Order: sequence, then structure tokens, then C-alpha cells
Amino acid sequence: QCLMSCPTGALTEREYIHEVWKAIDDPDRQVVVQTAPAIQVTLGEEFGMPVGTVVTGKMVSALRRIGFDTVFSTEFAADLTIMEEAHELLERLEGKGDLPLISSCSPGWVKFCEHYYPEFLDNLSTCKSPQEMLGALVKSYYAEKEGLDPARLVTVAVMPCTAKKFEAARPELVSREGRRDVDFVLTTREVARMIRQAGIDLETLEDGEFDRPLGIATGAGVIFAATGGVMEAAIRTAYALTEGEEMARVDFKAVRGLNGVRLAEVHLRGRTLKLAVAHGTRNARRLLEQIKAGAEYHFLEIMGCPGGCIGGGGQPILGAGRRELAQEYRRKRAEALYSIDLKRELRRAHENPAVRKLYEEYLGHPLSDKAKELLHTTYTPRGRYPRRRTEEAARLH
Ligand code: SF4
Repeated sequence: QCLMSCPTGALTEREYIHEVWKAIDDPDRQVVVQTAPAIQVTLGEEFGMPVGTVVTGKMVSALRRIGFDTVFSTEFAADLTIMEEAHELLERLEGKGDLPLISSCSPGWVKFCEHYYPEFLDNLSTCKSPQEMLGALVKSYYAEKEGLDPARLVTVAVMPCTAKKFEAARPELVSREGRRDVDFVLTTREVARMIRQAGIDLETLEDGEFDRPLGIATGAGVIFAATGGVMEAAIRTAYALTEGEEMARVDFKAVRGLNGVRLAEVHLRGRTLKLAVAHGTRNARRLLEQIKAGAEYHFLEIMGCPGGCIGGGGQPILGAGRRELAQEYRRKRAEALYSIDLKRELRRAHENPAVRKLYEEYLGHPLSDKAKELLHTTYTPRGRYPRRRTEEAARLH
């Protein structure tokens, strides 16, 4: 899994536990943490719970006990990403931009594309990843709403991979005022270490709830963490936007599962859209080479890690290096995510009341100038990654 996060240089990234403790202890700082959807189904493993245990409420309580002032959910921003990306897809289908549209929420995949497939950079969705969208909103929308000084806000993200640390430091993701969207990224394993350092027994904690409004999310935001989840969430919303009614079935199971490349079709506005999902760089290469050889698609979801974020390099170690066991772990973690989605009252991103309010109060509409300024980004061709570095990454893992 880590060769994927490692084309990003992530193996050389450092941990920020000390800096985060310092920010928490500083009375002049307000520290806002967000947790990626994958964390709630993997954190429990670090504390001896069975693979696939859902610990959402306990995780929120642990983060409050640690001392974070506000606990938001990256799932909110995943819903928002879907709103922006579904509109982007519809624009491109009308001829405004390159097809296929390719998802951009996995920094491992994005950096791989920048190094090895720069010819596809114009196909990448311009949407920032949910981590970055949430960070940007905390320092703008939330700060304004709550009358907080953005300079005093520290944004921390608990993420499934080290590639997110690289992403948070990208110069493209620094605001006009010179502020990073996300100040510090902690992996699942690192936040587990902080929980242990604080002497907290995760298993015995009462369930807590995310803060509002940026902690409100639908099931669509949850499934982002499994390969195929972004595609499924996007189709749920794109269908409603174009057809003016909801899909008869919320689940779009054709894109689920762990096969390397999965193909599906959906009928929108009288035309058939060809979709493809790939996870892991080997499968990404397979798919992109097919496209270069003439295969036609309208929308691709590509995730850097096998299984998507549930298999990220910062997660609890998958099956102690045993391939079949690792696959079993990924399956159980994905099942846990789909079980959360199934239980959510709202399962489509466009139903998220907090996202709707954000558009009403602040952004106007998807792809507005303000949305583009805060929620969209650009990419950079980087030249092929030095072979020596890639081999070193492989050796370390
Ligand atoms: Fe990180 Fe998820 Fe992408 Fe892996 S798939 S590099 S965990 S964002």
C-alpha cells in the first residue's frame, strides 16, 4: 500500500504530535480537529478491538478529552466535494472541460498523476480534497460565523495516510492571506498514540457527537473512504441534479468491491455515461493506459491505496504483511463504512442541510467564484520520480 503513498515523498514526512500538543496547551489558540471518514472504522484496532469495529462516538469523545476545542468531520466536506464535483461533471459533459473527469481527493493518486501521467492533469477534477476544503472553510466561513480570528485558529486533520501531510503543505493550498488550509496532519496511528499518551481508555468512553455545522454529514460522505465510494456518492447526486428526481435505489453496488478496476454505466439525461473505478497505482496505470489506447470513459475514480483510504499507509497495520489477511481487513473495514451509510437518515450529499446552508449563506452556488476561490485548486507536472527514491520507498515497506 505504501508505495502508493510514497510517490508523494510521504515516507520522509515527519509527525506533528509535539506541535499539536503545544497548540492544544496554548490558551491563545483555538484548535479545530477534523477526522476523515476512514478513521472511525480503523482506530479501534489500535486499542485491540476487532477489525471493522465502528468507534465514531468514542473517537469524538477521545479527541475532546485530549483537548481539541472543536471536533468536525471531514465527511461534511466530502458531501461538499460531491456537490462541486457533480456540477463539474455536468459542465464537462456540456463541453466545458476535458473528459473523462477524474477524481482528485486522493493526494497519493494526484501526485502519482503529476509525476507519471501529466497528460491527464487537465482531466483531474479541480476540487480540493475534503481535508483541504474543510480546513479552508474553518478559517473563512466558520471563523466569520463565530467571530473568531483566523490567525488564532489551528487546524488539525486526522487522516489515513502520510500523503495528506504532503498535500497540506502544497503551496497551491495556501490562501491569499498566506494561511495553510490545514496546519497539521496526524495519521490514525499517531492520533492513537496521543490518545494513549493522554491515558484515555477508548473502549470505555461514552459516545460524543461532532460539532456543528461542519460536523454534519450524510452517508455519501462516509463511503468516500472505500474504493468506489466517491463514484457512488457522485452518481447519487449527479442523477438527482440531471433527472430532477432521486435514483430509485440509493446503493450503486456496481462500483463497490475490491476488484482492481471496476466498470459501470449510468443513464443520465438520455445518454449513457461510462464509469470506471481503480485503486492502487498498478490498477491506475492499467486504466490510464487503456484510455491512452482509445478506451472512452466519462468519469473515473482513482484512489492511491489498495482498497482506498481504509487501506491507507497511516492506518493500523493491515494483516501484519500477509496479503490475504490484509485483503480481509480491507473488506471488513469497507463493510463497516457501508453499515454506517445504511444507518444514516440522509444518504445523498445534496440532502446535507449544513451544506445547503453554506451555499445559501456564503458560497452562493456550486462552482461560484467564491466556491472556486476556496474549494478548488490547480496541479503541477513534476517530471518522473527518481527511480532511486521509489526503490528506497519499496525497501522501507
Ligand atoms: Fe491517502 Fe486515501 Fe489517497 Fe491512500 S487513497 S493516498 S489513504 S487519500
